[in-house]
Amino acid sequence: MPRQPGAYPAAEVSLRSASPEQFAIVDVASGELLGSTEAARAHSTVHEGAIYLHLGRSYEVRELDLERRRALVAPFTGDWYTQPKRETDTTIQRLLDRRDALGVTLSFGEVAVTETVLAYQRRRLADHAQIDLVALELPETSFSTQALWFELDSGELAETIPLESLLGALHAVEHAQIAVLPLIAMCDRWDIGGLSTNLHPQTGGPTIFIYDGHPGGIGITRTAFHRFEELSRDAHRLIAECPCASGCPSCIQSPKCGNLNEPLSKPGARLLLERMLTASPEPALSVPL
Ligand SMILES: [Zn+2]
Ligand SMILES: [Zn+2]
Repeated sequence: MPRQPGAYPAAEVSLRSASPEQFAIVDVASGELLGSTEAARAHSTVHEGAIYLHLGRSYEVRELDLERRRALVAPFTGDWYTQPKRETDTTIQRLLDRRDALGVTLSFGEVAVTETVLAYQRRRLADHAQIDLVALELPETSFSTQALWFELDSGELAETIPLESLLGALHAVEHAQIAVLPLIAMCDRWDIGGLSTNLHPQTGGPTIFIYDGHPGGIGITRTAFHRFEELSRDAHRLIAECPCASGCPSCIQSPKCGNLNEPLSKPGARLLLERMLTASPEPALSVPL
């Protein structure tokens, strides 16, 4: 195969992911290249002011240079961490598979995920208390990936869950499923994204999306689609067995929630998952662990 002289194709491929578009992360103090991050994630992980962890050390992002695709960081010794606030939309591009499961319509396909990082929250390390919320001005980003989504019947939902906690229930179910999915799909929670809404413009009703966090998808949600009963049962157990009163980081709170864990309803999520698990006469429920 003819090649451009001097071209080194392997340099175009990151060892850690399939995305060719990377942002370099450079320590301004030493000039050292610390690593890189996928373009799809750069806005949420290395925006200006972000505290970035690398090999157990903390760095503060001084500048995110969108044109040159690099983040300039400096060693950090402060006592806070940061969490981005994002606005996310999913657009269904192609339906690849569909089945009825646990009383919901479960689909698998390709989606476009559009995201705008709006702000970030600074929180104290010691007690996680919020220090402040700092606005950011970043352009929206978009990538195509694979996702599963399930549509719930809004009439049935209204009988199960009070309207004021509906969005919190959907959101908490999404978080709980994302929390247990790494055990099923052998991945990291940071490889998975989610979105829940009580009205998606394309499905016309309450819908929960779980998507592969890498452009093109890496098979996580395909596995989750096939093992949805197990995923939902594990999510229910996570919530039901957690001794907290209204949700904690061990069950429904997520360290990577773009909505900063608002709103979340633990009792609503439990009811919703119980309803789904009892809707199914499938043997999936009685499979021993
Ligand atoms: Zn809990
Ligand atoms: Zn969330």
